[in-house]
Amino acid sequence: MREPYSTRFTETFLPKDQPPPAVHPKVLRDELVAAAEWVSGYLGELPAGPVVRPMPPGQRARLRAGKLGSRAGNLGGVLDFVREEIAPFPTGNGHPAFFAWVNSPPAPVGVIAELLASAVNATCGMGENALMDLERGTVRMLADLAGLPDGTGGVLTSGGSMANLLALATARTWFLTRRGSSDGPAYDRDHARLTLYCSAQAHMSVARAAACIGLPAHRLRPVATDAHDRLDPAALRAAVTADLDAGLLPFCTVSTLGTTATGAVDPLGPVTRLCRSIGMWHHADGAWGGLGAAVPALAHLYQGVDELDSMTVDPHKTLSVPVGCGALLVPDPEHLHTAFAHRASYLAADEPDALPWLSHTTIELTRPGTRALALWATLQHLGRDGVTDLIEHYLRLAEQLRTRITSEPRLELLAGGPWPVACFRVTDPGSGDPDAFHTRVARRVQDSGRAYLATVAVRGRTVLRACLCNYRTTEDDLDLLIREVLHAADTGGRPATTATGRPPDPR
Ligand SMILES: *Cc1c(COP(=O)(O)O)cnc(C)c1O
Repeated sequence: MREPYSTRFTETFLPKDQPPPAVHPKVLRDELVAAAEWVSGYLGELPAGPVVRPMPPGQRARLRAGKLGSRAGNLGGVLDFVREEIAPFPTGNGHPAFFAWVNSPPAPVGVIAELLASAVNATCGMGENALMDLERGTVRMLADLAGLPDGTGGVLTSGGSMANLLALATARTWFLTRRGSSDGPAYDRDHARLTLYCSAQAHMSVARAAACIGLPAHRLRPVATDAHDRLDPAALRAAVTADLDAGLLPFCTVSTLGTTATGAVDPLGPVTRLCRSIGMWHHADGAWGGLGAAVPALAHLYQGVDELDSMTVDPHKTLSVPVGCGALLVPDPEHLHTAFAHRASYLAADEPDALPWLSHTTIELTRPGTRALALWATLQHLGRDGVTDLIEHYLRLAEQLRTRITSEPRLELLAGGPWPVACFRVTDPGSGDPDAFHTRVARRVQDSGRAYLATVAVRGRTVLRACLCNYRTTEDDLDLLIREVLHAADTGGRPATTATGRPPDPR
């Protein structure tokens, strides 16, 4: 174990006349080197360890206790703390046998970038700095990959949920401003009549964003989906028409590019046409599948993407930018400024010919530059072709997983695609409640420490869901997952005896 600097040693090396947190450059250098060594070892050895391991209750309680000692600690303590108390207990999403949710491992270059950007510590909301220009540039790169028109602007966010919230707030302001009802009695009259549309498969963050902008649940219309879990344009048109007849104000439809449960892509063309015909905003939630236009095999589903009013993309999903990095892309960025630009005396007005501050495009003022640098670093490391190759890699793995599922008599494939996911069931050797059985099977696989997958409801049934978004996952991991699921089913999904370390493979 590395010898941490004692408090005394750190104090000896304190720069003159500077209080902590200042440190001596030599101490900082040594600690950074130690941290870098640990990070490369940790990321390298991760696949050999368990996906997750049970966390001792006493340790969890210690972390939650939140007691700050009065004596100063030392710099080296941070690395020791992370190594012993934090790193052994991750979500599991760094591991190649982790298949739950849409939760990627970090791109190594993104890890480096986060450290470097935090040293620069630029405030990407106000004033001028290089990282704010880089953020504008990375937004353009994303827009280009997504197939959005030249001139598209936008802003980086903590993730897809925040991007969807910004999108709905922007759509609402746009809609009411056009009607001349952005304030006063006209606002009171119109706001209560706004209605929002999305498919029944839309991510829950859409409903939550609607609630946050003051839309009650009964003004949100979850529209029926077809046999492939895509929004049904005829059902959308019927819902909109009924609402118009009732004197309501349909202001926005949210399509999904890559539904979270089954990876479906909603039909863009018919929705855009309907939106245009009655003056509705068309937002696409592409948190997972926003970059499909960059993939030849998917591009036909993304025709018309350039006519969207806004799109959410989550670079911390498909692109493996370290969390949290989402983005809202808006072909006409003026709409963002209308929604979010607010002045204050303590923020000197921008130069007349300066670009608008990024704080005028979102609800954050002081904003991190880590997102922009980590995104830029990941994109430039991949290159445009690398982005396509990476997504194609996931599509190929998903196809292989689906083939394995359909060729195994005890497994049944229920849904999945075109985005890389498989939703499936396994034969119950007993005869209990199938939903409870699949919940137990997933739990048993999770507890094994060898693989990890989650459940999801597909057409009212609880099924197993395996998602491909880890660039280190191989075909061997797919075989392992299938074995683990079958093994868990054999045991009826009963809990295993407690696992320590990486338990033996049941082969
Ligand atoms: C993941 C996801 C979100 C939420 O994004 P976060 O980054 O987790 O906030 C929204 N929509 C879809 C379709 C998603 O897959």
